[in-house]
Amino acid sequence: MSEPTIAVRPPMPQECPQCGLLNPSTAIRCDCGYDLLSRPQSKAPVVGWRALLFSFDGRIGRATYWRFFGPYMAIGAALAFVDWLLDTRMTKGGGMFAVVFFVAALYPSIAASVKRCHDRDHSWLFMLLGFIPIANLIVLFELGFMPGTPGPNRYGLPEAGTTAAAR
Ligand SMILES: [Zn+2]
Repeated sequence: MSEPTIAVRPPMPQECPQCGLLNPSTAIRCDCGYDLLSRPQSKAPVVGWRALLFSFDGRIGRATYWRFFGPYMAIGAALAFVDWLLDTRMTKGGGMFAVVFFVAALYPSIAASVKRCHDRDHSWLFMLLGFIPIANLIVLFELGFMPGTPGPNRYGLPEAGTTAAAR
């Protein structure tokens, strides 16, 4: 008869749901401030298309922001090309098709940007810097490329799928 072997497992490190850091199994609070004992909800559900295009509430991560602005820029460029092909340019700034599209997409583009401001813990007023030369580059860079604040901020929880790695 062989003695029953007792598997001695090393204690499993626990991954912080808020920042993704691996904490020792005995840790009760992550460096980022997350409470590993009570484990409150740390992420909001991924934002759907309707909320992305029409809601001014909550936060969106970079991936969701580009889910809107990628097609937005591609369609705008394609229509500018159409304007060039059909000679429907109205001014040197834009043609008929492109202008109609950008006017139609104005509300969604503001809605998406406001939620991305929130993700950076800025109020919507941050977008007004976009009208100032040089400062507008900061707005573009922050909204397009900077990760949201980890954990909850004034505007709620970060969007799911926006962990430290994927944010
Ligand atoms: Zn953490």
